[in-house]
Parts: sequence; structure tokens; C-alpha cells
Amino acid sequence: MSALKLTVELVPRTSWYSNMRSAVSKDDWDKIRKQTYAAFGHRCGICQTSGMIHCHEIWHYDDENYVQTLEGFIALCEWCHHVKHIGLAGILADEGKLDYEKVVEHFMQVNVCDRLTFEKHVALALRRYRKRSMYQWKVELGIYKDMAKGR
Ligand SMILES: [Zn+2]
Repeated sequence: MSALKLTVELVPRTSWYSNMRSAVSKDDWDKIRKQTYAAFGHRCGICQTSGMIHCHEIWHYDDENYVQTLEGFIALCEWCHHVKHIGLAGILADEGKLDYEKVVEHFMQVNVCDRLTFEKHVALALRRYRKRSMYQWKVELGIYKDMAKGR
């Protein structure tokens, strides 16, 4: 499963608002965003698409101690970003704001896999998400801690 290039990463419900973006000022977030885009050559860090890109926070989850640590940032294209937050993509699709099929197709194309692989991966990610959402996580910003403190 972990051999997939593009994966779903669901943030536990209990941590939805403990992200770097809301821990720093808008100026600092813009700085992080721009540095990330430059570091990835203004391309998606997963599928290499250029154009409209987003800055995505990479978190590591310690499932034994319930500690989540910010590991860094990655530039993502719109479609890879939708895959990462597949729950939100589903909500947007329900509201008629997003073509969910395009998200599925992007996943299959980037990972060179079939639909069953996608369905299984999402089911696994949802199971993990539900389990993680039962706990309150301690959030560690790692090397970005000082930046957040400066606010
Ligand atoms: Zn991409």
C-alpha cells in the first residue's frame, strides 16, 4: 500500500484547527508558501504538474503516544491536493463544486493503478482517520516552533 506515490492523508477531526497555517501570521504563512513553491520549482512535488499549486503540510502521526509532528511542506497541484483531503473533496463534490471522478482519475493516473486500489486505499485511510479522531493529539511543530511562537 505504501508504494503508492500519491496517498490520502486525513487529519484527525480532533486536530482540524491545530495546523501551521493558523499558528503563524499571514505574512509568515506567505513566506512558507513561497519558499515551498520555490523549493519544488513551482511544480507539484508528486506529479510534477506546473500551474496552480498549493502548500500542503506534511504531518507524522505517532499512534502510540498520540503526538503529531510537522515534518515539512510540499507543493501540490490542485488534484493531488484534493486526493490528500479526499473527505473534503467528497463534500465539495456533494455540493456540486468539484468533479469527484476527476480526483479518482488523477489518483489512478499518478499511481498507475486501478479503481479497486483507489477504493481500498480510501477505505483504509478512513478507518485510520476514524480511529485517530477518537483521541486528542499533542501537536509538535518541530523546527517550525519558533516561527509560530513569534506570533
Ligand atoms: Zn500533482
